Amino acid sequence: MDFGTKLYRKTLLTIAGNKFVESLSVKYGKKLAGKFIAGDNLSDALKEIEALNNKGIMATLDHLGEGIKHLHEAAGYRDEYIRLVEGIARTRADSNISLKPTQMGLALDAKTCYANIRAVVAKAKETGNYVRIDMEDSPFTQATLDIIHRLHAEGLTNVGTVLQAYLYRTEQDVEDMIQADIRLRLVKGAYKEPASVAYQNAADVIDNFKKIIRRHLDHGIYTAIASHDDRIIDWVKAYAEQHRIPKDAFEFQMLYGLRMNDQARLAAEGYRVRCYVPYGAMWYPYYTRRLAEKPANLWMVLKNMFS
Ligand SMILES: Cc1cc2nc3c(=O)[nH]c(=O)nc-3n(C[C@H](O)[C@H](O)[C@H](O)COP(=O)(O)OP(=O)(O)OC[C@H]3O[C@@H](n4cnc5c(N)ncnc54)[C@H](O)[C@@H]3O)c2cc1C
Repeated sequence: MDFGTKLYRKTLLTIAGNKFVESLSVKYGKKLAGKFIAGDNLSDALKEIEALNNKGIMATLDHLGEGIKHLHEAAGYRDEYIRLVEGIARTRADSNISLKPTQMGLALDAKTCYANIRAVVAKAKETGNYVRIDMEDSPFTQATLDIIHRLHAEGLTNVGTVLQAYLYRTEQDVEDMIQADIRLRLVKGAYKEPASVAYQNAADVIDNFKKIIRRHLDHGIYTAIASHDDRIIDWVKAYAEQHRIPKDAFEFQMLYGLRMNDQARLAAEGYRVRCYVPYGAMWYPYYTRRLAEKPANLWMVLKNMFS
């Protein structure tokens, strides 16, 4: 990451964390976020998923929400996720589920959070579905991994998580998860993390990203590679071809609203592609992370605003 990009990312994440900016954005900015959000409610999102599935793209459905203040909000999210699992089964959508631990109460009460997530995973198991626990910022990394291990120990193996290439600890976490036969989504990492825990330089993050992807592909455990970066996507395609790794041994994942034509192109080339489809009213933190990742996303929003 060059100095300008680093500064842009840090500045945007800092401004976005300001409560005043947040309240203004939530009041006036909903239309702007539309490009990245599949709709306000489950039925909007399921329609978008049907359209994606028709193009050969699978989905992972996310009901937006994180960093809640009261446990009753977590119970509301849990219930919405159970409806979501039922909705996917009813419509026979080709979609699994993504959720955030803080949305289920992790920052408030670990026991309740576990019970909430367990209820969703158990429901998903009943309908033959799979739950991906998104990874949030580093204070929650260990607690999130503990939840996944505990669910697997209880026989709920239809659940996996995400590891972030920017964290120093990830290489070891990857080994532990492979040993436990737990599937991962691998990403660069989206949060503002200090140098004490995370690589600050884009080249280091990419090196580590390739290292952990290679480890997965060589081992043969099914893995999800979530990135819009051609340096990663082209490298994975070449590595898989060179090492005769079949196209169904891994999947590419991208976010709704980003590189949609490329998602369809990859699917047409025979790769497994999954689109992360968020919906719901709590769009602000998700949306500001997208803006921080890429100045072009900000321009796209400004263009939408004036079109
Ligand atoms: C499906 C999915 C799930 C995720 N889940 C998590 C999670 O649980 N936890 C977490 O911390 N992070 C998550 N992330 C976010 C991730 O960590 C990164 O912050 C995010 O993906 C940006 O990194 P990148 O590799 O996509 O490319 P970037 O670093 O954003 O971009 C690198 C290069 O890729 C190309 N590029 C990027 N976007 C575009 C575009 N729209 N059009 C054309 N070229 C483009 C450009 O050349 C750009 O310079 C997730 C990402 C995805 C895709």
